[in-house]
Amino acid sequence: MLYLDNSATTKIHPDVLEAMLPYLQEEYGNPSSKFYSLAENAKKAVATAREQVAQLLGCDPDEVVFTSGATESNNMIIKGVADYYSHKGSSSNYLLTSSAEHPSVLETVEFLGERGYKTRLLDVDTFARVDLQNVKETVTQLQPLLTSFMWGNNEIGSLNPIGELSKLFTANNLFFHTDATQVIGKIPVNLRKHSGIRFLSMSAHKIGGPKGIGAAIIRKQSKEIFTRLTPLLHGGGQENNYRSGTLAVHNIVGLGKAAELASQKLEENVKRLTQLENYLVDILKTNLGNKIAFNSDDHDKIPGLISLQFIGVNNELLLKKLSSFIALSSGSACSSSKPSHVLSAAGKTLEEVRQTIRITLASDLSEKELDLFRAIN
Ligand code: PMP
Repeated sequence: MLYLDNSATTKIHPDVLEAMLPYLQEEYGNPSSKFYSLAENAKKAVATAREQVAQLLGCDPDEVVFTSGATESNNMIIKGVADYYSHKGSSSNYLLTSSAEHPSVLETVEFLGERGYKTRLLDVDTFARVDLQNVKETVTQLQPLLTSFMWGNNEIGSLNPIGELSKLFTANNLFFHTDATQVIGKIPVNLRKHSGIRFLSMSAHKIGGPKGIGAAIIRKQSKEIFTRLTPLLHGGGQENNYRSGTLAVHNIVGLGKAAELASQKLEENVKRLTQLENYLVDILKTNLGNKIAFNSDDHDKIPGLISLQFIGVNNELLLKKLSSFIALSSGSACSSSKPSHVLSAAGKTLEEVRQTIRITLASDLSEKELDLFRAIN
């Protein structure tokens, strides 16, 4: 089976599994316990993982909050900021986002809209990117309490102009969150270079880590002052009171190791994914010519993610037909039952949406494996 659905999830890297195993076996201590070695070992393992994640993202370890994944991080940040600052009497209760966000952002914003917050969804262009000028004007007009735009789109692969957006939010000092789940390990992410990003969400299982673990990055306001938000989970006060619950040490260790590997292999990974993408696009263009049309842009994109249409072919039927030898998806795994809201937001017709498939590569694939596509015509 050729697995080409790496944006849905990735296989666990063997080094990640090896790092995790002791924490599922003999090292079972609770890091919130004290003094005895099992507890201290667990605490140290969590601290190391926190540093590995911070190193990957270019932030301080105490800005890393472990969550169950990007869905929780998105919920926690958006609901938490909205609640905390509106309770404090913030003059704005606008939440600004785009129509091409992941459902865990869109539906959270929609939920808050039903609870009395004002919301605005910006339109996107044909590659699902926000327009910088439109963002500038809207931000100036609305002074939103929180703005959330994803770094890279999970269905079509386009990158938003995060550098420019970060500058804009640095200049006007408003809260900006980005869902970076799909770009980690695929492009350089250094939060020290993007001071306008106050919040970031990420997930381990997209980078060779385990499922059910991720991080919310909450940048400090200054060296000592933490940014406050209302937690989703109240309880024992773990994670600096941002997220209560006994820490999933084995998963946290797995995330840390995956983050370390993603930092070390970034350049190599990007180069290989780009090579493989070019190789596959060449095969597709040569073999299928005008029977296909690409949705993805050819620049400013996530390497290794190709969204394309098989003209006149129903995507579900095609995926089913191919499913015994290639694993692919029609878009995002998180909204696979409905026609893609991202492609619709990017102006695609229902027919175009229904003939779209997403191919997402991994750097350990070989050209020989991709040659399988030569048989499709
Ligand atoms: N945001 C984006 C952009 C994603 O692609 C995904 C996963 N499909 C998520 C959030 C949700 O991540 P998780 O599975 O960790 O909840």
